[in-house]
Amino acid sequence: MHTIEHWIVSSPAAGCGSRTAPVFDPATGRQRASVLLAEPADVDAAVTAAVKAFDSWSESSLSTRMRVMFAFRELLVRHEDELARIISAEHGKVLDDARGEVVRGREVVEFACGIADALKGDYSAQYSRGVDVLSFREPLGVCAGITPFNFPAMVPLWMHPIAIATGNTFVLKPSERDPSASNRIAGLYAEAGLPGGVFNVVHGNKTAVDAILDHPGIAAVSFVGSTPIARYVHERATATGKRVQALGGAKNHAVVLPDADPEFAADQLIAAAYGSAGERCMAVSVAVAVGDAADPLVAALGRRARAVRVGPGDDAASEMGPLVAQAARERVEGAVASAARQGAVVVVDGRGLTVPGHEDGFFTGPSLLDRVTPGMDAYREEIFGPVLAVVRVATLDAAIELVNANPYGNGTALFTGDGGAARRFQRGVQVGMIGVNVPVPVPMAGYSFGGWKDSLIGDSPIHGPEGVRFYTRPKVVTTRWPDGGGPRAAFAFPTST
Ligand code: NAD
Repeated sequence: MHTIEHWIVSSPAAGCGSRTAPVFDPATGRQRASVLLAEPADVDAAVTAAVKAFDSWSESSLSTRMRVMFAFRELLVRHEDELARIISAEHGKVLDDARGEVVRGREVVEFACGIADALKGDYSAQYSRGVDVLSFREPLGVCAGITPFNFPAMVPLWMHPIAIATGNTFVLKPSERDPSASNRIAGLYAEAGLPGGVFNVVHGNKTAVDAILDHPGIAAVSFVGSTPIARYVHERATATGKRVQALGGAKNHAVVLPDADPEFAADQLIAAAYGSAGERCMAVSVAVAVGDAADPLVAALGRRARAVRVGPGDDAASEMGPLVAQAARERVEGAVASAARQGAVVVVDGRGLTVPGHEDGFFTGPSLLDRVTPGMDAYREEIFGPVLAVVRVATLDAAIELVNANPYGNGTALFTGDGGAARRFQRGVQVGMIGVNVPVPVPMAGYSFGGWKDSLIGDSPIHGPEGVRFYTRPKVVTTRWPDGGGPRAAFAFPTST
């Protein structure tokens, strides 16, 4: 069994300590590797390498950085299948889904390939008589990323291409449950010509995270994960003067109006609820059926949920793989049991599913709950598994009220053919990312990703223009040349003339 090491400067690095954690194959339930858990000294070694690399990388030309990004993008294309296999083996998701996350992550690299455009400054001639003003943005220094298990390639790719293209250096602390994709990506960066020390990976758990949050050499922290940890990261890292973006959990509602085609809506909702076994921050976990939409929708959802093919991620016939861990399976099946106890109707019960030949895998089947109410635990908690809860309401206004009463505000969707209703919905909901007949409205790479309320702690969404803003800070230069005219110096505070 191999040990997954850190990646510091330009190669794998053995850690200072000997602590490790097991990495499982969720489809078999067997341990496939161990991953080193960084001590503060390992984090310090990575930050020291990144500080050293910053001097020359931040001075490199935009053309040089874009050339590296283009080369990195080509390598991501060439190694798409390999990366998908690495992701699937440790996360459990099916290969097509894993390929999808590599592609969506690559789109952020494509955005970073045009970073010269995104970094263009402003210039105002003759703002005052003889005075010109220009502004430009500079990198921050060493930036760190702390990422969740559910997108081991895509979520880090939301961060480091933009941080690096804008001239920063980076230390990534990926999830300890599926760490291998990050090391492979570090290898691809090196192959693309990125100088050693610009991108580093330290593996670990809370000890590594705390060392990052407290490290004086780190200027900014990007976090994606659950809301309690997002809050903790935000508080602790801002207390040490860092810039922080912290994206948290979700409970995404999809509202289905009576005019929507129930078969179309059900197709979309099934993929959005059970794709990746529901382990997506943009998964639909609540279907809000308005008025007469409910009965045909629940019937169509039930038929499809029963037909989902559950199996190992590397089997092309599988539509849904296992959960990431045994504890996750227990939590998800516990949520279904609690919903049943609290009065929900269990239309499809995925508990206790076994996959022949994979009896020890962390599988659970799709579950569909009807007549769920906001007071039930299954409604209030982020289950993060293949459980879709149907809540019945009478009107669109009641649906909007329900969405807004939820503490999370990551994504939401509306199914309808009525443009007026869609407009009312998109203006009325307190949610950051909205789909109209699009169930998983993850913004494309040219836009930024971020929820509202408990789904985003602090105020900075990720990637796209907000990413450029997050990883840079502005300078404004006010210039006058002696022969340019304008008033003489005075003791009064200077004003425009
Ligand atoms: P998590 O919060 O448990 O872990 C995220 C990261 O924090 C990991 O790197 C982990 O090592 C670290 N961590 C865990 N516990 C810690 C602690 N006590 N102190 C310091 N660091 C700690 O999340 P997860 O289970 O890996 O991922 C699932 C969660 O992530 C879900 O809540 C999901 O909604 C959320 N998520 C959100 C988004 C988004 O864009 N908003 C995207 C993906 C996932």
